[in-house]
Amino acid sequence: MSDEIVVVVGSLNVDLALTVDRHPSPGETLIAGGGGRSPGGKGANQALAASRAGAAVHMVGAVGDDPDAEVALGLLREDSVDLSAVAVVPGPTGLAVVTVAADGENAILVVPGANAAVDAAAVDRYADLLARTAVLVLQGEIPREGIEAAARAARAAGGRVVLNPAPVLTLDPAVMRAADPLVVNEHEAAAVLEQLQGAGTGATTDAGGDRDPQELVAALRDAGVRSVVLTLGARGAIVAGPALDAGDRTEVDEPAVIPAAQVEVVDTTGAGDAFIGALAAHLAAGEGLVRAAERATAFAGRSVTARGAQSSYPR
Ligand code: ATP
Repeated sequence: MSDEIVVVVGSLNVDLALTVDRHPSPGETLIAGGGGRSPGGKGANQALAASRAGAAVHMVGAVGDDPDAEVALGLLREDSVDLSAVAVVPGPTGLAVVTVAADGENAILVVPGANAAVDAAAVDRYADLLARTAVLVLQGEIPREGIEAAARAARAAGGRVVLNPAPVLTLDPAVMRAADPLVVNEHEAAAVLEQLQGAGTGATTDAGGDRDPQELVAALRDAGVRSVVLTLGARGAIVAGPALDAGDRTEVDEPAVIPAAQVEVVDTTGAGDAFIGALAAHLAAGEGLVRAAERATAFAGRSVTARGAQSSYPR
C-alpha cells in the first residue's frame, strides 16, 4: 500500500560559494569573494522543492557529525521535511565548493563526505518507508548500491521511481529502464543511452549537445526506458512515455513539448532540482506525467528569478 508520500534517497551537502575574476591555474593563489555556506546537494534540493510544491516528503540520507550538518538540514527542517531517516555518521558532511568566475563559467569540487555512507545496508534500514512510498526520487550523488537498493525496494512495493542520473554513473540497466520517468538533460541523456546500448560506462561524454532532442528521447524509449523527461534549460522540456495517464492531453507514445516559462532570469542554479522535486510532488498527488511536467516547468521557472538553489524555491 503506498501513501501519497514522496521519499528522496540522496545527497545532502553544504555549498561553499566563491566568486573569482578568473579560475586559478595549478600552483596559483588568488583572492576570492563570497565564502557563504548554504544548504545544497541534489537530494536535499529536490526534497525541498517537492515539499514547497505541496508534497509530504521524507528524506533518506546522511550528514556528518560536524557543524555543517545543521547548515545542510536547515531549510528542510524549517519546511517540515521528515528527517528521521537522515543518519549522522562520523566525519564531515558533504561539501560542494562552487567557484564562479566573472565570465559566468563555474568550476565545482564535491567532497562526498557522509553521502558515501548511503549504501545498500543504509537504505535497507528504511525498507518499511520505501514500501509505502508513492514516488521515490533518486539522483547520482550517493553510492550506486544505495540507488539500486532503493529503486528495487520501491518497485517491489509498486511505487514509482523518478530517476535523475546526475552526475551520470553506471547503474543496473533494469533500474534505468524502470524509471518512470528518467529525468535527464542532453548530456546525461547521451551518456545513459551509451550505457543502455552497451557502448561504454557512460561516465563521461561530450555527446548530446549535437543530437536532436526528439531523437534522444526516442532513442531512450527504444532502449527500453519506461518514460523520459528531457530538460532543455530555457528551451523547456520534452516528455514521452507509454499510455500517458488519464487526464494527460497527449496521445499514447506521442512526445509532449513543454516550453519553458518566459521569465526574467536571475540565476538558474538548482533549476533542474526544482523541476524534479515539483514533478515528483505532482505525480504523488495523482497528476499525469505531462500535467506534472507542466507544473514543474512553472515551479522551475519561478526558481530562476531568484538567487541560489534552495533559497530560490517558491513557496
Ligand atoms: P542544473 O543542473 O543547472 O540545475 P539541468 O541541466 O539539470 O540544470 P535544465 O534543463 O537547465 O536542468 O533546467 C530544468 C528546467 O528548469 C527546464 O526544463 C526549465 O523548465 C527550467 N529552466 C531552466 N533554465 C530556465 C530559463 N533560463 N528560463 C526558464 N526556465 C528555465
